[in-house]
Amino acid sequence: MSQAVGQAGHQAAVIDGKAFAASLRGRVAEEVKRLQAEHGLTPGLAVVLVGENPASQVYVRNKNKQTLEAGMHSVEHKLSAETSQEALLSVVQELNDDSSINGILVQLPLPSQIDAEAVINAIDPAKDVDGFHVVNAGRLATVQSAMVPCTPLGCLMMLKDHLGELSGANAVVIGRSNIVGKPMAQLLLKESCTVTIAHSRTRDLPAVCRGADILVAAVGRPEMVRGDWIRPGATVIDVGINRLEPSEPGGKARLVGDVAYDEAAAVAGAITPVPGGVGPMTIACLLANTLTAACRSHGLPDPQL
Ligand code: NDP
Repeated sequence: MSQAVGQAGHQAAVIDGKAFAASLRGRVAEEVKRLQAEHGLTPGLAVVLVGENPASQVYVRNKNKQTLEAGMHSVEHKLSAETSQEALLSVVQELNDDSSINGILVQLPLPSQIDAEAVINAIDPAKDVDGFHVVNAGRLATVQSAMVPCTPLGCLMMLKDHLGELSGANAVVIGRSNIVGKPMAQLLLKESCTVTIAHSRTRDLPAVCRGADILVAAVGRPEMVRGDWIRPGATVIDVGINRLEPSEPGGKARLVGDVAYDEAAAVAGAITPVPGGVGPMTIACLLANTLTAACRSHGLPDPQL
């Protein structure tokens, strides 16, 4: 890079999640081939969709397509929005008992008559490729072998690829959800970062962020993180996916992250764009987790991806 960080005209390196995800999917597909050739095993992923949430339908379609492209077995269970908790639990139980299925994913959000926590915790932890089961959350927190939630896993992979060693870095994670913020913080702690978890009650969030060598924003507020919150040279991972409706009739909706990209890119050392950053890594990590689950279920070592 020709310009020093913080100087006029500086532009952060772009961390290309789309390209990274494509290469990860390629490595997963290679490992699937090897598993089939050497052990006669085909990893299987089952996705359960309840109701007709349009965003969920798109996610499930993409998951199915990419699972098949990776050479895995893919099963989709589409249930009506009126499905009872009991009926959903019995589908989960069937999948737990099905030896051709190594990964089970129940697409969230679930309709209001269903207790999502009870459903997630009914999944066999060994098949919980989303890593949301309380056993996997506990294992991650206590640094035991776990299924790690896909979005933070993807963020960590990109950070390690870009920065190499993370040990000793000051990391700030904005957001403390069970699916992104908390597991992200656990993963960074495991890498020996000094981790701060910020949330809606954090005092002087901009000052907290300015201390970050690594800043992960997982908030769900469009462009909340401004350029002057970022330490020059920091690595910024933007998890947020926010849809901005067009300002004029007939205009196009726009996806933006939780970080004001142009401002941040003028200060940061590296940054993930939205779209094309963290998003594509999530499904690629789901495939990686399904492969890992298949290996573990047959007593084979974890794949080196
Ligand atoms: P949640 O709504 O569950 O959590 C949001 C977190 O942000 C909460 O911890 C909340 O704090 C915190 N927060 C809210 N407002 C502020 C504020 N003003 N200042 C500081 N912190 C604040 O969201 P998720 O974790 O599920 O998702 C976060 C974002 O990531 C969303 O945009 C979502 O769409 C996106 N996402 C993207 C994925 C991908 O594949 N790229 C996958 C999953 C999510 P508190 O706890 O105090 O309320």
